[in-house]
Amino acid sequence: MIGAIDQSCRQVTVVGAGASGLFAAYYLDRAGYEVTLIEEHQRVGGLISTVATPFGLIEGAANSMIATPQLRELAEAIGARLLPLNEGSRSKYIYRDGRLRKFPLSFIELIKLLYHIVIKKPVSQPKDMEAWATTYLGQAGFDYLIDPMVTGIYGTAASNLSVSAAFPRLQVEPGKRGLSLFGGKKSNGSNARGTIVSVDGGLDVFFQRLGMHLEKRLGERFKLNTKFTHNDLSRDSNLVLCVPAHAAAKLMVDQEPSLSDALKRVEYTPMISVGVFASKQQLNTVPNGLGVLIPSKAGLETLGVLFSSSSFEGKTYSSEQVLLTVLIGGSRNPKLIEQSDRVIADIVLKDLERFFGLSGEPLHIEISRWPKAIPVYSSQLEEVWQLAGSSWCAKPGQVLFGNYTGQVSLRGMLNLASSIAE
Ligand SMILES: Cc1cc2nc3c(=O)[nH]c(=O)nc-3n(C[C@H](O)[C@H](O)[C@H](O)COP(=O)(O)OP(=O)(O)OC[C@H]3O[C@@H](n4cnc5c(N)ncnc54)[C@H](O)[C@@H]3O)c2cc1C
Repeated sequence: MIGAIDQSCRQVTVVGAGASGLFAAYYLDRAGYEVTLIEEHQRVGGLISTVATPFGLIEGAANSMIATPQLRELAEAIGARLLPLNEGSRSKYIYRDGRLRKFPLSFIELIKLLYHIVIKKPVSQPKDMEAWATTYLGQAGFDYLIDPMVTGIYGTAASNLSVSAAFPRLQVEPGKRGLSLFGGKKSNGSNARGTIVSVDGGLDVFFQRLGMHLEKRLGERFKLNTKFTHNDLSRDSNLVLCVPAHAAAKLMVDQEPSLSDALKRVEYTPMISVGVFASKQQLNTVPNGLGVLIPSKAGLETLGVLFSSSSFEGKTYSSEQVLLTVLIGGSRNPKLIEQSDRVIADIVLKDLERFFGLSGEPLHIEISRWPKAIPVYSSQLEEVWQLAGSSWCAKPGQVLFGNYTGQVSLRGMLNLASSIAE
């Protein structure tokens, strides 16, 4: 979040009813502000989408959230039921040498990794996540731990991510060893612990209920189908813009042309999420656990597979069927999003055959394309934060908030929103 609320003014206009806007509006209303929420579409939720199919529910974008105390409290307030992970479904895998492994490093690689963390003193401070990982964990630590983890979160290569923007808690002070990270410090408020949860009926239910709660609270100040434009930017109330960077750029075009230019250039990684229903008989191995991440080294297009029906109850209507959610595209193949459904499905099915021995046509495939899925947390994005902080957002009551302003996850954004009124 960039900027702060002007507490001397009790009116707030929140623009955009995606996750960030709904969270911000909820906490501002709770703190006694007179909130107006403006969303250009007929529905709230933005990127969040749950698709109902004849075989079960598929999450088109976000699949799960972290059940922090804030999330549990909010779920209770809006009457949404959080679904815990199924018993015995916590295992996470990395794909290496044709197998799914819980720990992907060899004994020698583990020794080298410990050497890098405990003994080696780096000569220079790495700026991007690839350099960070090779410096503090060694090559195998990068290839089989950091690269798949980073791609699983951001969909982009580790070399595109600035350590200070994407993982500020991993910054090591100059001259210190990687071991110093275990000193237990640095909290940016985003690390509240919690377990992974889904929502009964899908994540969209959570955000629709939050929308209904706000509609009841705000009455006529809850405005769907209303596009906020650059002409609306000058107004007397607090303004919290919870729209993507490219949309914020359009709003700033007259008032803050240089910030508008910078926001326009914020890069987003395209992602494709493919839900695949199959019968258990079609698989050699029925996956059990949370999912598998695929390192770039494997040379495959799939970034990761979530074992959706293994993780949460009710994802398939029949216990004889499985739902796998495949994430593909990202910076590994940014052009894939332009390909036909058949081309994308063929790549996904080939990889599922490789991982689980899937044979034959699956029962159902649902493809969700996100051309601007996840912002790239690069050093260029940090420059945008600085520019925003010293220009438009320097004035109290003018706030930019969304998945490009510091926290990409729903957990991170909820955490920040919970203190927006303070
Ligand atoms: C494939 C995928 C998987 C993901 N998985 C996870 C996950 O498992 N867990 C997790 O925590 N996160 C996940 N995320 C990230 C998370 O879903 C997003 O970061 C989050 O939903 C983005 O919310 P937002 O409010 O920033 O933006 P958006 O959802 O884009 O909302 C912006 C809203 O602003 C509105 N708007 C834009 N311009 C205007 C205007 N001029 N006037 C009025 N309204 C306007 C839009 O219509 C939209 O509703 C995933 C994302 C993707 C794409």
